[in-house]
Amino acid sequence: MATAEPTSEPTEETAVETARRQLERAAAHLDVDEGVLERLRHPDSVYRVAIPLERDDGSTEVLTGYRAHHDDVRGPYKGGLRYHPDVTEDECVGLSMWMTWKCAVMDIPFGGGKGGVVVDPKDLSAAEKERLTRRFAEELRPVIGPMTDIPAPDMGTDPETMAWFMDAYSMQEGETEPGVVTGKPPVVGGSAGREEAPGRSVGIIAEKAIEYYDWDVAETTVAVQGFGSVGANAARYLDEAGASVVAVSDVDGAIYDPDGLDTNDVEDHDETPGMVSGYDAPETLTNEELLTLDVDVLVPSAVGNVLTAENARDVRAAMVVEGANGPTTSTADSIFEERGVPVIPDFLANAGGVTVSYFEWLQDINRRSWSLERVNEELEAEMLRAWDAVREEYEARDVTWRDAAYIVALSRIAEAHETRGLWP
Ligand code: NAD
Repeated sequence: MATAEPTSEPTEETAVETARRQLERAAAHLDVDEGVLERLRHPDSVYRVAIPLERDDGSTEVLTGYRAHHDDVRGPYKGGLRYHPDVTEDECVGLSMWMTWKCAVMDIPFGGGKGGVVVDPKDLSAAEKERLTRRFAEELRPVIGPMTDIPAPDMGTDPETMAWFMDAYSMQEGETEPGVVTGKPPVVGGSAGREEAPGRSVGIIAEKAIEYYDWDVAETTVAVQGFGSVGANAARYLDEAGASVVAVSDVDGAIYDPDGLDTNDVEDHDETPGMVSGYDAPETLTNEELLTLDVDVLVPSAVGNVLTAENARDVRAAMVVEGANGPTTSTADSIFEERGVPVIPDFLANAGGVTVSYFEWLQDINRRSWSLERVNEELEAEMLRAWDAVREEYEARDVTWRDAAYIVALSRIAEAHETRGLWP
């Protein structure tokens, strides 16, 4: 809906501002009760806890932890726990709202949560990180649980952190409760296929979008920024589907082969950091050059805010599928809208992660374990269902793909609120 030519970025939005702006944009297309909207503008609750940590030298430091609960009308709160020096209450609230929309667009029976500890994980020894995690789990115990709020790994936390968290919670509850967190190692209730899921879902959604625009996948060229967990799995999925992945990158630069790279031959970031830019390809490019390559599909899968007011007009890709969280600034989004370049949004495309987290939780609470084949089959089915719901809104209204996805999410949440009503 942009008419003026945006050339520079407005001052940076906070996570809460972004989440509220998207809520209002979606609400403008729907007949949502104002009382429900007002409830969704605010988190249900935000907990702040002091976490006393005994450092390895015997001193005690008190760290601050948060857990934001945005909305649980459709099921338990769900969202990551991050350990990062920039964690704030505001950021947790904004990201918890974003999780509400993400679970709803996938039709997963979860609401939105997010939390974290204000700490630089690089400053912690393994033993300190374990003590911090166990105490944080204990401080949050009154407000989390398999049927109330289910944390997951995020920046600075990993499957091992989730195993400590689950163990601390279980010891205090007196029974093993694997369903209290997801993203655990498989030996303690983690799911097959969890690690690959966000990248696979980006590939599945990109393939559907290619089909939607009547492109022949065998004739489709793809550039992927960031060859890590998300980027490598998305690139390999699309390569296998028949597309030609011509460029991939890591933080040091990109490799380019106009005839298509063998994505299984390029090692990903986890396998060998630096291997992408060290790979023997016909050409090398900078990350900036990759973003403006003449390809059909651009998949930014590294970090946020890489498509901006400065480069959005130079992007030559015919479509953007967001693998990373928030790779497109709101100004760049308006430029793509004005130029007619479809942008398939992150919270649909990379939602395979939360979807397989839901599968993990189902396996945990039912004490059953699914095969990788079953996980991948059910993931594909969930992604296709979500794609169809978003496509229907996209076709029915004159909106962007991002707005269509928010409309699907908000209509599901609003309907659940209106049906349950306001208690008391
Ligand atoms: P990762 O660390 O496995 O890989 C990141 C890749 O991006 C690496 O190849 C790295 O070299 C490259 N990179 C880092 N900084 C860069 C920069 N400034 N320019 C270009 N390349 C750069 O990370 P990941 O787990 O694949 O996550 C990537 C993005 O996807 C993040 O935005 C993350 O929040 C999002 N995401 C991840 C998951 C998940 O479960 N892994 C789920 C949903 C969304």
